[in-house]
Amino acid sequence: MPAVRPWTGDPMWIADVLRAEGLRVVEYPGWRDRGHGEFKDIRGVMVHHTGSDNASAASIAIGRPDLPGPLSQLHLARDGTVTVVAVGVAWHAGVGMYPWLPTNMGNWHLIGIECANSGTSPTAPHRTNWPNAQYESLVGCCAALNRRMAQNSSRTIGHKEYAGRAQGKWDPGAINMDILRADIQARIGSIPHPAPTPRPPVPVGEYAHILLFRGSEGPQVAELQRHLKYGYQSYAGQLVIDGVYGPQTEAAVRSFQRRTRGLKVDGIVGPATAAALNLREVPG
Ligand SMILES: [Zn+2]
Repeated sequence: MPAVRPWTGDPMWIADVLRAEGLRVVEYPGWRDRGHGEFKDIRGVMVHHTGSDNASAASIAIGRPDLPGPLSQLHLARDGTVTVVAVGVAWHAGVGMYPWLPTNMGNWHLIGIECANSGTSPTAPHRTNWPNAQYESLVGCCAALNRRMAQNSSRTIGHKEYAGRAQGKWDPGAINMDILRADIQARIGSIPHPAPTPRPPVPVGEYAHILLFRGSEGPQVAELQRHLKYGYQSYAGQLVIDGVYGPQTEAAVRSFQRRTRGLKVDGIVGPATAAALNLREVPG
């Protein structure tokens, strides 16, 4: 079996791969140099709707005053034309989580496809207001990207599957992601040596709501301090349990993070650190 290495760096191959899939491809000027820095390992594809049937590729490249572009790597028009807008990191995913992604890190691990589509409504039946040309092209795009990275269609996800809980996202609207994935898989065919599914260092799902940092106050902070002091007292013995996330608490968190494999040492308690601490979620 050949060695499977993760894809790293920017996907300069993107336009060629889409053309080879038989898609109509437009290269937006400057796409090779556009992005907010470089990708980490690319783990898959994320599908969006723009929220408007006539959002242009330019609007995705340029972005908005409050959110500079690129807002995704690809724009998919209603006639099926794919425009390559960028190959660097784009601001499309935001905060959220998915089993094979590090929490809140979707932008650095996913190629984003913004489809010009209103989305209709969160409950609209599959393919409502999705012209055949646009839907077929979406299937082709995702298949081409997944296949290129030796991934099955399980590596294509919807924004709503990642950020539904964190941000209330419901895009792509009128797309049943399971049906879309089945259509993509049929187009990919079989992959002899699929890339193994990456795993985040610790299970974080049940701790998704926890985010504590310097200045946080309340019963959840007190619970954190109790865990640090009594559960891990060798390096938090002096900690006062007062429900205020001050310098002492931050130092104890950093100390815990330094000694725990797989955690980022940032003094912030997000889902991964909370999970490693077995922190109980305390209501309000
Ligand atoms: Zn989206």
